[in-house]
Amino acid sequence: MSRRPVTLPFPLAALAVLAAALPAQSPFANRHELPEDRAEGGHSVTAEQCKQWLYTLASPEFEGRQTGHPGFRKAAEFVAAHFEKLGLEARGEDGGYYQTVPWSATEIDGEHTFVKFEKAGHEPLQIPAERLSGYVAAAESAAGPVALLVITPAEPPEPPEPASDGRRRGFRMPEIAGLDALDLANKVVVAYLKPSDDNRTNAMVRFSLRRSLAGKNAAAVLFVQQDEPEGNLRGASGSRRAANPAAAGRRRQPGDTTFGGSDLDSFLALAGLDKKVLEGAELAPAIDLQATVEIATEDKQAPAMNVFAVLPGSDPNLRDEFVVIGSHLDHVGMRGGLHPGADDDGSGTTGVMAISQMFASNPVKPKRSVLFVCFAGEEDGLIGSGYFARNPPIPLESIVAELQMDMIGRDEEANAESRTTAERNEKAEDNRDTLHLVGTRKLAPALHELCLAKNEQAGFVIEYDQEGMFGRSDHANFARMGVPVAFFFTGLHRDYHQTTDTPDKIHYEKLLRVASYVYDIAFDLAQADDRPLIDPELWAGMRGKGSEEPAAPRMDK
Ligand SMILES: [Zn+2]
Repeated sequence: MSRRPVTLPFPLAALAVLAAALPAQSPFANRHELPEDRAEGGHSVTAEQCKQWLYTLASPEFEGRQTGHPGFRKAAEFVAAHFEKLGLEARGEDGGYYQTVPWSATEIDGEHTFVKFEKAGHEPLQIPAERLSGYVAAAESAAGPVALLVITPAEPPEPPEPASDGRRRGFRMPEIAGLDALDLANKVVVAYLKPSDDNRTNAMVRFSLRRSLAGKNAAAVLFVQQDEPEGNLRGASGSRRAANPAAAGRRRQPGDTTFGGSDLDSFLALAGLDKKVLEGAELAPAIDLQATVEIATEDKQAPAMNVFAVLPGSDPNLRDEFVVIGSHLDHVGMRGGLHPGADDDGSGTTGVMAISQMFASNPVKPKRSVLFVCFAGEEDGLIGSGYFARNPPIPLESIVAELQMDMIGRDEEANAESRTTAERNEKAEDNRDTLHLVGTRKLAPALHELCLAKNEQAGFVIEYDQEGMFGRSDHANFARMGVPVAFFFTGLHRDYHQTTDTPDKIHYEKLLRVASYVYDIAFDLAQADDRPLIDPELWAGMRGKGSEEPAAPRMDK
């Protein structure tokens, strides 16, 4: 018994069976009718399947999918296995589904890492790597006389008043009185921060100290504390792009290698100092010790890959042209607790998995080829898609459009980035049918028109008020090279980049509806005789262009 007396087009039987099997609020109810040539594939995915994929992507086991970390590799293997199960073509390295993105993980070489304190006529104190903790940006090898600093935390200045957009700017760091006057050149600084009850104060004083010491030409900087250090020395991980100023900047900042507990007692004993010195007001008590700091690291390629697969086109004349369907696979990981990233961008990756199954299951194979890709390093600055655009596994000229899904599983509502009164009054329940279309009016009018035409069936309330988000997801790297793009986005919400962006808050019917809409657009792009052309005026107005000429053909040439 079907729910609604409907005149079902071909293929009837399959649809009727599926519709009957699903819960009342079947996703079919929401999903627009698909043209006959693509309906069977389009209806081969259920909201329940999407739920299973997204719960896996957002699971603790994937540790928030931070690029360069084991959780990201698990997510990449999960998506690659999906592509393989669908029989999609592997065109990556070694016949696989990966394009490795240079990403270095600085690993600590424990065998050659230690801190040593010496005093003539005394047994030296050598602290091995396993009794050190902290974050290491680069290898370090230094020696020199010790300068002990005893830091009394000053109350951080009151945070500035929020500006009209609700944001606070111009935080001032707590000053460390007397530090400027000290000559610490070529010395090994051992800094002891008197603990304050407020962790924010501790963190800000530590940050302020590291920044102030950056200009003092110290040979090395170490921190010492009362308690045994927690955790180990951790290396940095980041995109291995020589020109990456962020990486370079990170390398210049002193590390925060820390020792403590019983090693603090041994350190003071060797120096002949009483523990009371750590309670005194004196910033730099006299001390007579030599120190050697050896932090050895190894740079290794960390887990960072774009995961992609191809459905070859059926037309020999058009199969060397591609429709690209993308999302980003990564999220921010475990910084400050597990960040599941269910909506950002677990929902988009689930969309890519859904659409790849739609195409793979559909009897009619479109003329052009379709490339499905989940990028790495988006949260670190669109790194994976930037690498893909600079080292494309298929010619950029052959890409007729890049369709990007990033956050397609929720309803827009007021959030931390809301600026205007209207934005602050956004309610999720008012946005059940809302979808933002971003970037479609930037390059190729035909793509914009196609999206609008297809929405007549999809039935979304399309909004264009988020062009400000244009540069904030992977499609931007394609647009800059002159590839037409369409970015699909259901809007920001209170859980954006929070540990609360969890899979139980996702609207799976809506997610599947967006995926079906994108599938329908992609199918048309892959079937049409003509491809969207670049409007020369729009191209001329495009900021941050990555090349003189657009990769896609222009209207005027
Ligand atoms: Zn995102």
